Amino acid sequence: MLFVTLRETPAEAEIPSHQLLLRAGYIRRFGSGLYAYMPLMWSVLQKVSGIVLEEMDATGAQECLLPQLQPSQLWQESGRWNTYTKAEGIMFSLTDRGDRELGLGPTHEEIITTIARETIRSYRQLPLNLYQIQTKFRDEIRPRFGLMRGREFIMKDAYSFHTDEASLKETYAAMDRAYRNIMTRCGLEFRPVDADSGAIGGSGSQEFMILAEAGEDEILYTEDGNYAANTEKAVSLPADVEESPFSSYEKLATPNTETIAKVAEIVKCSPTVIVKNVLYEVIYDNGMTVLVLINIRGDRDVNETKLTNELTKLAPQYKAKTIISLTVPDATAQKKWATKSLPLGYIAPDLDDDYISASKNVAKKFLRLVDRTVVDAKNFVTGSNEVGYHVVGANWGENFTLPEILVDIQEAKAGDRAIHDPSQTLISARGIEAGHIFQLGTKYSKAMEASFTNEQGKTEPLWMGCYGIGVSRLAQAAVEQSYDKDGIIWPVAIAPYHVIVIVPNISDAEKMAAGEKLYEEFKQAGVEVLLDDRKERAGAKFKDSELVGIPYRVVTGRSLSEGKVEVVKRATKESQDIPIESVVETIKGWIETES
Ligand code: ATP
Ligand code: MG
Repeated sequence: MLFVTLRETPAEAEIPSHQLLLRAGYIRRFGSGLYAYMPLMWSVLQKVSGIVLEEMDATGAQECLLPQLQPSQLWQESGRWNTYTKAEGIMFSLTDRGDRELGLGPTHEEIITTIARETIRSYRQLPLNLYQIQTKFRDEIRPRFGLMRGREFIMKDAYSFHTDEASLKETYAAMDRAYRNIMTRCGLEFRPVDADSGAIGGSGSQEFMILAEAGEDEILYTEDGNYAANTEKAVSLPADVEESPFSSYEKLATPNTETIAKVAEIVKCSPTVIVKNVLYEVIYDNGMTVLVLINIRGDRDVNETKLTNELTKLAPQYKAKTIISLTVPDATAQKKWATKSLPLGYIAPDLDDDYISASKNVAKKFLRLVDRTVVDAKNFVTGSNEVGYHVVGANWGENFTLPEILVDIQEAKAGDRAIHDPSQTLISARGIEAGHIFQLGTKYSKAMEASFTNEQGKTEPLWMGCYGIGVSRLAQAAVEQSYDKDGIIWPVAIAPYHVIVIVPNISDAEKMAAGEKLYEEFKQAGVEVLLDDRKERAGAKFKDSELVGIPYRVVTGRSLSEGKVEVVKRATKESQDIPIESVVETIKGWIETES
């Protein structure tokens, strides 16, 4: 076999799992987010896929394989072509020799909905759940961490079709159970969390987070186990507002107080009494730029995922469908539309619309949004639109007009009280999103006219769900959760091989023969085994076996003279001598209990 390990840690790899997979020869890099799965990696991926397949089949889902090259016209129909191919869109697109536009599948809602509209006629055919395991392509903005965020990666995606919401919820619950089984069987420590539905759309969704420090996502949960959510989605009760020390409206000189902390210090009030005014610039898919002014409590931050969702809802107001970008405008960006320099750090809720220059691609007025945290603010402190000054003792209706659009976009954070039980506080953890399940509802079926005839003979749109699992990401996440200074410690169920038989000295004929015999016996017993009969030092072979992370090591060494072999468990490094006749049965037993 091809077996090449590296002594040095490759400089390009930042996190342990990426370093170890490269060093142990599991993957090789070809470009940003592009990797070859070497035979050992492929073996792990096949194991993970096998578990996924079994659990999917157990729910009654059916496997299929859909085209990766997808005609643009289908994505036009669903309204996603522009969002997915322009600006920060993640779909690779191309034009074929006949001048037809195609996208390289980042996901398959359009394809599957087309199949449904052409094949599903009646309620009698429902419910239905189709899935595939396939390479997906995504032109990620920041590919990194090896297989964690690749531009080409393996995903299992399933799509279900239903007559109504109740049926969708049943399948969603079955998929939830299947995902928990998959994670458990793969030997992972995980947490299902409430999630934002993002560009995929729909109502409810849940992510399956593999807990690890290197995770890109933050999770907030409560100790009682009754609440867990991705920070993007999490809700909380912020600390109570303190009473304002001001009772009359006044303008105060507050030099050099561009931050909330400095304002609070100089005017001597709690940040909860301050109304912070945050400016965002959003560009919609029709090229329209809108300046957004948000009023939010001084001690809270804007959650940009929630803000994006609100701005997407408001898109029709600007004759647009979706958002292309959302940023806090820097000096250069401000130059494009500001008529004069903005009183940054001192903005008030009534910042005048004449700061925006007349242009057909820029909305003339600020889009003013008020966050729930400041709707009831009394005698508050805020900017004055004049650099170096704030106002205190301000009130909505007296000094400022309360914006009409009320939003709930504050970011929940660790230490906040939980909504379901205010005696519980939110705790933060990091996780790797390995799976995501969605109740899509009728978003795609309505857009693409996929319908069925119900029992009364009436035509209705199909209800849909979709369910993804990152097979390649999950495999690497398993390493991120399980390694030591010497290498990978694979959970037995997804290890590339169960056992490695090492012959320390291949010139010793007796030890060599014993190794070869054991190797055959393990194979006969259905145990996946490697034989290390390389002409290498014993120490180097031991090191390699630890790096590669095979769960059980069998050595035909010194104890052979007593009819025994040395057996070492990779996870604990625990070593014992076992009689040669019973070693196969013993290890086979361990494998069965472990996987
Ligand atoms: P992320 O938020 O990490 O970008 P996503 O929410 O876009 O992921 P989904 O569309 O929900 O991902 O895809 C389903 C699953 O596919 C994810 O839960 C994840 O495990 C996996 N996945 C998504 N993007 C990548 C990627 N670039 N590389 C590897 N796996 C990925
Ligand atoms: Mg997701």
